Amino acid sequence: MKTVTLPGGEKVSAMGQGTWYVGDDPALRNQEIAAINRGIDLGMTLIDTAEMYGDGRSERRVGEAIATRRDEVFLVSKVLPYHASLKGTVSACEASLKRLGTDCLDLYLLHWPGSVPLEETVEAFERLQQAGKIRHWGVSNFDVEDMETLVATGGGDAVAVNQVLYNLTRRGIEWDLLDWCQEEGVPVMAYSPVEQARLLREAGLFRLAGDLDLTPAQLALAWVMRRSHVIAIPKAARPDHVEENAKAAEISLSEETLAMLDRIFAPPNGPEALEML
Ligand code: NDP
Repeated sequence: MKTVTLPGGEKVSAMGQGTWYVGDDPALRNQEIAAINRGIDLGMTLIDTAEMYGDGRSERRVGEAIATRRDEVFLVSKVLPYHASLKGTVSACEASLKRLGTDCLDLYLLHWPGSVPLEETVEAFERLQQAGKIRHWGVSNFDVEDMETLVATGGGDAVAVNQVLYNLTRRGIEWDLLDWCQEEGVPVMAYSPVEQARLLREAGLFRLAGDLDLTPAQLALAWVMRRSHVIAIPKAARPDHVEENAKAAEISLSEETLAMLDRIFAPPNGPEALEML
């Protein structure tokens, strides 16, 4: 599996597994656990969840899925902005750890910018690190201005990733944030990389993927991962989808294919506010 290097030098899988809505349907339990484990077998060892997802149901399901192989996984969870005070972050993290059945998260993110001063959340992250409850911390849904505020508060050196919406139909970050993160050495974790499956129904993508003997998901994911500092975290609750997606990490797209994709899905031609899902 291709890797992306975090600021401290640690390498993580360039394709991970998202888990929004995982755990919501009891009938899907076995399939979801099988999908996550298939992903780990194939090297998609970074697993992304959040306290928000199903009010903790995603974390519980992930905890169940990785119970016997926690050490193989780079586990990511997120604190809601309205829990992100000094005390609130610590309690939210402890609750996440309990649901996940582990004593340490590999990466803990602020889910989106909120009203708690960033200094306070960063201090909470540092305390959690000192207590051995998280290894790295980062942010999510931060635009360039938010990243600059973070740097100004002294958190710029330690931020491990910025997780943002990025796929062929959501290219706004190519105007500024994507390069800003690369220049500052902050990996970008691309969420909803297949636009929650809506992208896979785009006729242009479907045709081009067919010509290249790829599936639409593989072409869309290989495109997201074409830059060396981008991690893609598709969610797939079906093991066959996981297997299909894992292959995308091995694909490198030609300049001609990239140009054809630019014709179908235009890059930004000016600054755009960061979109969120
Ligand atoms: P994705 O773009 O990952 O799309 C998920 C959907 O695509 C599912 O319905 C899945 O189906 C389907 N799918 C995946 N692979 C294939 C395939 N090969 N063929 C056909 N269908 C496929 O959307 P998400 O919004 O889930 O984003 C991924 C992850 O990013 C989330 O799960 C979450 O962890 C994170 N996220 C973070 C946010 C944030 O604010 N920080 C916001 C949104 C997401 P199936 O499940 O049936 O396999």
